[in-house]
Amino acid sequence: GAKGMGFTDAGQMWRSGYDMPPEQIGPETDRLWEQVKPMYEQLHCYARGKLDKTYGKDKAEVGNGLIAAHLMGNMWQQDWSNLWDQLEPYPGAGSLDITAALEKQYQTNLSAALAKAGKDANVAAQYKAQREAELRTAKQMTERAQDFYVSLGMPSLPQSYWDKTQFIKPDDRDVVCHASAWDMNMEGDVRTKMCIKPNEENFTTIYHELGHIYYDLAYNPLPPLFQGGANDGFHEAIGDTIVLAMTPKYLSSIGLVDAPTESREAVINNQMRMALSGVSFLPFGLMIDRWRWGVFDGSITADNYNKAWWDLKAKYQGVAPASARGEEFFDPGAKYHVPGNTPYTRYFLARILQFQFYKGLCDASGFKGPLHECTFYGNKEAGQKYWAMLSKGASQPWQATLKELTGSDKLDAGPMIEYFSPVNAWLKQQNEGQMCGWQASAAPAAAAK
Ligand SMILES: [Zn+2]
Repeated sequence: GAKGMGFTDAGQMWRSGYDMPPEQIGPETDRLWEQVKPMYEQLHCYARGKLDKTYGKDKAEVGNGLIAAHLMGNMWQQDWSNLWDQLEPYPGAGSLDITAALEKQYQTNLSAALAKAGKDANVAAQYKAQREAELRTAKQMTERAQDFYVSLGMPSLPQSYWDKTQFIKPDDRDVVCHASAWDMNMEGDVRTKMCIKPNEENFTTIYHELGHIYYDLAYNPLPPLFQGGANDGFHEAIGDTIVLAMTPKYLSSIGLVDAPTESREAVINNQMRMALSGVSFLPFGLMIDRWRWGVFDGSITADNYNKAWWDLKAKYQGVAPASARGEEFFDPGAKYHVPGNTPYTRYFLARILQFQFYKGLCDASGFKGPLHECTFYGNKEAGQKYWAMLSKGASQPWQATLKELTGSDKLDAGPMIEYFSPVNAWLKQQNEGQMCGWQASAAPAAAAK
C-alpha cells in the first residue's frame, strides 16, 4: 500500500508526517537520544547496582553490563516504577500516596451507596451499590482532571461527554480497557473509554486522555483536514504536560495528599518517581520503530526478527534476556502497538515535547525558580497560550506551532534535562566509582549459552 502511494516502504510513509524530509527523522531522533542518553545511563547504572545487591551480579546482569530483562518489573522494561521498593532514594521521605487517597474516596462512596441500599439489601442490591460507588469515584477523578483544564480558562467538557463516556468496565460485555480518547463527529461529541480504578496510574491517565479531548475541542472549528495534532507527538504530549504540573504542591492544594515536605530528600524521591517512568521510557520509545523501520525496508529479515529485536533492546535500553530467545519466539508481538500497527516514534517525541511545552507554559505563567517546582494550575496566561496552540491543530507546520509556544522551532531535550537535574546530580554521586554503561555486542553470545 505504501509503495502504491509512492513511498519506498511503510517506514518511509510513517516518517513522512513530520513537515520535513522523511530521511531526517532518524538522525533527528538520534540527536535527541544523544542529548538524554547520559541521563539514562546514570539511572541504568544506579538500578543495576541495586539489582546486583538484591539478586547477585551473576543473576542481575547478562553479558557486559546489561540488566536481566525479567527483573525490571515491566514486560517491556519501558517503565521501572515497579522497582520503587528497591530504588527509592530515601525510604518514606515525602511520600505521595495518591492511591491511598483515591481508595479512601471510593470507600466513602461505597459506604454511602450501601447505606442508601438499606440494611437488609440482598446480594444483587449490594453489587449494584458497589458499581454505583465505582462509577461515582471514576467520575470524581475525571472531574478533578477537568478542573485543571478549566482552571486554565478552558471550557468544561460538554454534557454529552459525561453521558456517553465509558468510565468503568461494563459488566455485561467484553471491552478493550486500554485507555483511549475519541472525537466521534469532529464537532464536539468527544468521549473517553477507560476502565477506571481508584489508583494513581489511572488518575494520571485521565489527565493524559483529557489532553487529547481538549486538543479535539480546540481544533474542532477548523476544516476537517486541519483537525489533527501538529504532529502525532503533539497529541500525546498535551495531557502529559499537565501531568508534569501535578506537583506535590498542586496535589495537596486539591486535598489529595498532605502538605508537601520541602526537604531535599523528598524532592529527590519525587524526581526519582518521575524518572522511573519518564527517563526509563526513552530508549524503548526509540527502539520499537528502529525495529519496524528495519522490518519494513527489508534490512531486518523474517529469519532474524527476534534477534534483531533483542539486539536493539541491548543497544538502546541496555537490557537482555536471561535465557536464549531464539527465532521460535516472537517477542515484538507482545507489545500492543506492534500487532496493532501503531507507529511509536510519537511517544518518544511526546516525552521530549512535554517538557518543552511545560517550560513554555511555566514561562508564560511568570514562574521563576527550579523548573521541577513549577505548576501553572489556575494560571490564565499559561492557559491562553496553551489553548492558542491547541486551536492551531494541523493547520500549519508543527515547527511554527512549537515556536509560538516555546520560542523555538526545534525539538530540544534541554528542558527535560533541566527538569531532572536534581536527581541526575544525585545519581552521579551515587554512581561514583562505578563502571557505568554497557556493551551491547556481548548480548547475543551471552543469550546463546
Ligand atoms: Zn494518548
